[in-house]
Amino acid sequence: MSKKVIYTDDFIREFPKSDLHLHLDGSLRLSTLIDLAKQGGISLPSYTEEGLKELVFKEHYSDLGEYLHGFMYTCEILRNPEFLEQCAYELAIDNQNEGVRYIEVRFAPQLLMDGESITMEVVLDAVNNGLKKAQKEFNNRPEVMNKEEPGFHYGIIACAMRMFGKSSFSPYYTKFFSMHRFSTPMEVIKLGALELAKSVIAIRDDMGIPIVSFDLAGQEAGYPPSDFKEAYDYIHKNFMHKTVHAGEAYGAESIFQSITELHADRLGHGYFLFDTDKICDTEIVDKDRYVNDLSSYIADKRITIEVCLTSNMQTNPELTDITQHSFKKMLDRRVAATFCTDNRLISNTTVSKEWRLALDNFDFNNKTLKDYIAYGFKKNFYPGSYVEKREYARDVMRYYDKIAKKYGVDKI
Ligand SMILES: [Zn+2]
Repeated sequence: MSKKVIYTDDFIREFPKSDLHLHLDGSLRLSTLIDLAKQGGISLPSYTEEGLKELVFKEHYSDLGEYLHGFMYTCEILRNPEFLEQCAYELAIDNQNEGVRYIEVRFAPQLLMDGESITMEVVLDAVNNGLKKAQKEFNNRPEVMNKEEPGFHYGIIACAMRMFGKSSFSPYYTKFFSMHRFSTPMEVIKLGALELAKSVIAIRDDMGIPIVSFDLAGQEAGYPPSDFKEAYDYIHKNFMHKTVHAGEAYGAESIFQSITELHADRLGHGYFLFDTDKICDTEIVDKDRYVNDLSSYIADKRITIEVCLTSNMQTNPELTDITQHSFKKMLDRRVAATFCTDNRLISNTTVSKEWRLALDNFDFNNKTLKDYIAYGFKKNFYPGSYVEKREYARDVMRYYDKIAKKYGVDKI
């Protein structure tokens, strides 16, 4: 039987999945976005789903600017604790409904703060309440209670912005900038990241909110990881995990810096890991050797790449054939990776769609498929002890074996 036949949509829906790279502000339900915009008096270019799909949340984008345009609306809507809690709750529910058992939800808290009463604590508490409510509902199901099925868990990832300016980002950032008049823009940006690092450690420790990792997001070109060393050092010293958007718009040296200077445990995208053309560092003479050595190092250290296939297709229009995506090389070289949505709304995708795309276009067998599902549970930043994390991952993979057997996938 062909693999495409055996990897049915039912199999994909049923096997336990994870999403470790999932932006809250890019993953609202379209119907909710319209609803909340009306409630909050926020203007949208259209108030119908069809209209917004045509104008903002498209199937294909001409460039990254167009892709990022939608965040302007979602962030404005999310700058309201009630709306934020609702969207976080719905995001967890949508994941549960397609068989996702573990999510790490990321966003930039400072983008959602108003510089007044909507503080860092308020933002993180609202998101946590929404996720916690959905978790509780799921884990109270009889099949989870009697341990027939693994439960649903989540962590929160706080993103620092690589770049923000005086205006049009958030009221908080605007105030932050205007209060540091004698610093250069880059000094202010670095300070913003350090302030975020200190606040998320404090909020994790004082409020018990499961903030499991720090991330660096936003425009990659021109803002190298090494600029954010101080913030990451603080995170590192306080035993919080680290991921970095790297190799999305920039090359291998950005990935190297993320691992060596920012102590990244995982990498967001890593799309250009193998592209020698993207290496700008003139000291790297033998570029082929450099990417070979680097990818081998990453594989050996089990640094996990959060692969977002649809999103990469949308922001790299030159990638017209998904089989040419660098995941093929990651799979060949056994680099640990996991499929993620990036933005469910903006990329018009789901975890199941990402797996469909992966299984239809890359050469998995039962062993490699199981490994790549397992990375989502073994290389995540589970908000418990290592022993608890292992136990949960073991339960999940035992459940996977059951599903694989049910669909005959274990025979491939
Ligand atoms: Zn991302």
